[in-house]
Amino acid sequence: MAARLVIFGRQGAGKGTQCEFLTRHYGAVHISTGDMLRAAAASGTDLGIRAKSYMDTGQLLPDDVMVGVVQERLELPDVAELGFLLDGFPRTVPQAEALCALVEVDLAVNLDVAEDVVRDRMLARGRADDTPEIIGERLAAYAAQTVPTIAWFAQQDRLVTIDGVGEPSEVSNRLTAAIDARLGAQ
Ligand code: ADP
Repeated sequence: MAARLVIFGRQGAGKGTQCEFLTRHYGAVHISTGDMLRAAAASGTDLGIRAKSYMDTGQLLPDDVMVGVVQERLELPDVAELGFLLDGFPRTVPQAEALCALVEVDLAVNLDVAEDVVRDRMLARGRADDTPEIIGERLAAYAAQTVPTIAWFAQQDRLVTIDGVGEPSEVSNRLTAAIDARLGAQ
């Protein structure tokens, strides 16, 4: 059956690498709101123009905008056939509530890497958008909004937490073991 997954992880936790692996492994559609917004910004759509000012300062777009974007994507036929791996959404409790009213989510996976560790990793990679101020903004938004969203999935008994520190292949194995155990048990 098609897997319907949500993945959480701080910026710099290795979520991009693991999402590539998981979409290949489960054949699900990778839906990355960050990628969608960056594509919109690059092509200069209304959404992209609006998104850019938020993204440039590490702030979150309004929930209603994001729910609209994701709802449209979830309605495309590939999702019904192949399932999905949502990456970057939901990031707030209202987004999580809206998502679960739209579709069934099998499981949320928290790729856990401590704040200090990701901060050092991001500073070391030295990308233009990785200034200490913007990193601080992103981590603060994560702590304020996304950590409670992760707790929300735990309350629904729909969460597994995976230690994200280790070799990428080792982390991948932990992920599939935990996901398969949960999906198989349904
Ligand atoms: P990051 O670069 O922080 O790892 P993403 O690539 O997922 O995060 O997203 C980049 C930016 O796009 C975020 O900092 C935020 O401004 C915006 N964004 C992405 N997803 C969401 C969302 N679900 N809700 C609000 N804003 C979002």
